Amino acid sequence: MPRFQFTIHATDGKARRGTIAMQRGEIRTPAFMPVGTAATVKAVKPQDVRASGADILLGNTYHLMLRPTAERVARLGGLHKFMGWDRPILTDSGGYQVMSLSELTKRSEEGVAFASHLDGSRHMMSPERSMEIQRLLGSDIVMAFDELVPTTSTRDVQAKAMERSMRWAKRSRAGFDSGEEHAARAALFGIQQGALDEGLRQASADALKDIGFDGYAVGGLAVGEGQEAMFGVLDYAPGQLDETKPRYLMGVGKPDDIVGAVERGIDMFDCVLPTRSGRTGQAFTREGPINIRNAKFAEDQGPLDPACACPVCGTWSRAYIHHLVRAGEILGAMLMTEHNLWFYQSLMADLRAAIEEQRLTAFANDFRAKYQTTKG
Ligand SMILES: [Zn+2]
Repeated sequence: MPRFQFTIHATDGKARRGTIAMQRGEIRTPAFMPVGTAATVKAVKPQDVRASGADILLGNTYHLMLRPTAERVARLGGLHKFMGWDRPILTDSGGYQVMSLSELTKRSEEGVAFASHLDGSRHMMSPERSMEIQRLLGSDIVMAFDELVPTTSTRDVQAKAMERSMRWAKRSRAGFDSGEEHAARAALFGIQQGALDEGLRQASADALKDIGFDGYAVGGLAVGEGQEAMFGVLDYAPGQLDETKPRYLMGVGKPDDIVGAVERGIDMFDCVLPTRSGRTGQAFTREGPINIRNAKFAEDQGPLDPACACPVCGTWSRAYIHHLVRAGEILGAMLMTEHNLWFYQSLMADLRAAIEEQRLTAFANDFRAKYQTTKG
């Protein structure tokens, strides 16, 4: 297998059907990456995550650097061996969580000084430190370290954050390349910033292209701006990035967000929604999400989703899972999460097939007609 090779097999409108080949395996795109925050996709064993159709997982740099620490994971043979997942892993840069979860943060050109949300211990995160942590974890796709500001900030604040992010992207590139052994088998993605401003997004895309990355993320979205504003940016942002490289929309999203983003040319996604929802009683179905805690499911003998081929839907009823979740049984969270992961992976498989067969618009319209976000 090559270090990193992206092949586009088919296109339909702006949408692309591709494959990323890496040493640890192939990633079919458009791809959805389940989130394994603390070296686990919560409530599901790695082999069951794989059985749902996932080719790649996401690990969180911020959480792992604090506990159990990247140094310990490295001493134990790296993240793949530690958690029992031998396929590709993408790690985020830690920037988003440092700036949203930690306390007493102090930003400077050097990086971000912060206090751990776990024990208050002081840490410094910088492009160089982020690259080092992701290398210690043994990540396959490493994300550049960038600065985030709210989409509601003034244009001046957004411009300065984007420009700093581009200087940090250059330092991330140098830091990544200095780990020669790791750089010989892993990939580095740059992150486009610029909030909701087309000009800033173009400047960011140009700066990233000059540095050169294996793939590009559209960053700074899915932070509360709403689907309409997000799609507004996605109408132009993917087209500003190198079309021969994969495009990754970080932190997205709801099933209807994913369908709309694929139509706009996005190739990769990650989101906690299927796993987090699974633990709070929300199950995804082709007709929209349902709250399994609802009393109307107490004696419903049908599966979570009649159109689902997952092992959960093949065995257990809504009534049983309603009982488990209401009783606070651990198996309830396990079954709900496994089903939700299958739902997401099956949606991605359907999208890939629709692109291959040049019927994405019809598929997307049919999906939107059936998928009721207010059902419950
Ligand atoms: Zn199912």
